[in-house]
Amino acid sequence: MIVIESISDMRQWSERQRRGRQRIVLVPTMGFLHEGHLCLVRAARLRGDLVVASIFVNPAQFGPGEDFATYPRDFERDRRMLEDEGVDVLFHPAVQQFYPAGAQTFVVVEKLSLPLCGSVRPGHFRGVATVVAKLFNIVRPHVAIFGEKDYQQLQVIRRMVRDLGMDVEVVGHPIVREPDGLAMSSRNVYLTSAERQAALCLSRALCKAERLVRRGEIAAAAIVARVLADLTTEPLATVEYVKLCDAETLNEVDAVREPALLALAVRIGKARLIDNRVLKH
Ligand code: AMP
Repeated sequence: MIVIESISDMRQWSERQRRGRQRIVLVPTMGFLHEGHLCLVRAARLRGDLVVASIFVNPAQFGPGEDFATYPRDFERDRRMLEDEGVDVLFHPAVQQFYPAGAQTFVVVEKLSLPLCGSVRPGHFRGVATVVAKLFNIVRPHVAIFGEKDYQQLQVIRRMVRDLGMDVEVVGHPIVREPDGLAMSSRNVYLTSAERQAALCLSRALCKAERLVRRGEIAAAAIVARVLADLTTEPLATVEYVKLCDAETLNEVDAVREPALLALAVRIGKARLIDNRVLKH
């Protein structure tokens, strides 16, 4: 595996591979890797000839008072994990080079960025869309893989690619969970053991909602109320939102007629956890 830090070296590598008709698959990450990231890497391997994983904790997607400075980092461990997975290139740019002083150009995916996490993290998806657009320009992948754990992020990127005519195939990967159901996340390290136990309330609530729909309950009000009631019985959890939305537009819906996204954000201790499930009637 080659580690590339410079933007121009990354560009040159990709140009060379493209001239050699190699198909490049990109897996963008913020590092502190876990099995969820590695599943994306394995999926990437199946979709092309060469896998590039990027590690970049993107300051532009963190708001003031969020955890940019304390976001967990362990480059050496990440490097070994990616090497063991047979990744071809680890792209690890420095913040100063990635965002040159005076940068004033951003990508804004207007409507999709507003609900859910966008409503509590203003500017977050502008930071995400901008960094991903820039990674696409530098790495020039044929395919890029993103997790459905960050469902809104995936929809924002799909929309950006369509709207700007970018020549990248965007592939979603199902949520990877711990054996007890907790969605894997770099931020799970923030949880104490009691909080880790409490965090199971998210996946439990999603399973319950799925059972409700299977039994014929399609009204958003009823489903959301049941999920909220369950989450609020967990004393360590503070609910940020529970929403039922159209799975494509992310507009709120009043019933599960078309596939609907049930999306949760919950604070437990220092961690802000998100999880979701697409419900189908
Ligand atoms: P992050 O490093 O948290 O920015 O995540 C990098 C990529 O991995 C994103 O596309 C995430 O959606 C994806 N990802 C993170 N956790 C999971 C998970 N538990 N299951 C599937 N994909 C994930």
